[in-house]
Amino acid sequence: MPARPIVRLGHPALRTPARPLTPDQVGTPELQALVDDMIESMREARGVGLAAPQVGEELQLFVYEASTPPDREQPIPLRVVINPMITPQSGELVYDWEGCLSIPDLRGLVPRHPAVRVQGLDREGKALDFVVEGFEARIVQHEFDHLNAVVFLDRMRDLRSLAFIDEWERYSGEGEDLDDTAVG
Ligand SMILES: [Zn+2]
Repeated sequence: MPARPIVRLGHPALRTPARPLTPDQVGTPELQALVDDMIESMREARGVGLAAPQVGEELQLFVYEASTPPDREQPIPLRVVINPMITPQSGELVYDWEGCLSIPDLRGLVPRHPAVRVQGLDREGKALDFVVEGFEARIVQHEFDHLNAVVFLDRMRDLRSLAFIDEWERYSGEGEDLDDTAVG
């Protein structure tokens, strides 16, 4: 059993905009326990990201980590982001495969900004301000969407690329390595 069960599409938390955490909430034992549980649940589910609404908590908080990102990118260390603001950097939208722990077994092509600036707080309440690109930018946009009650299906421009994992691995020609997909 994961530390916190991951809810699936149909759970109202996935379609409710998340509330920002107040300064009083950040740093409390309850918040620290939630963060630890989310990290554990993400790792157990073999995802690269997890947002609080995915464990039924309508709070502006997500975690992400990718030990083996695609295209020989550097491993992405664990990040905890609270009350994020995302600013797209210039560049054409990039299409790549995504999946979601709350929408099991499906993969689809999703356009994302190639790079985004992330501002927010870490788990101790310290200010964060950094720019991410590539796979990490895709993860961040996927998780940020969850805080706004948006899932990757909503972002797809053409639902015809939607596929179940087994068929996707067999027919898409991209299934040799499941880690190539942003699943969050
Ligand atoms: Zn997701």
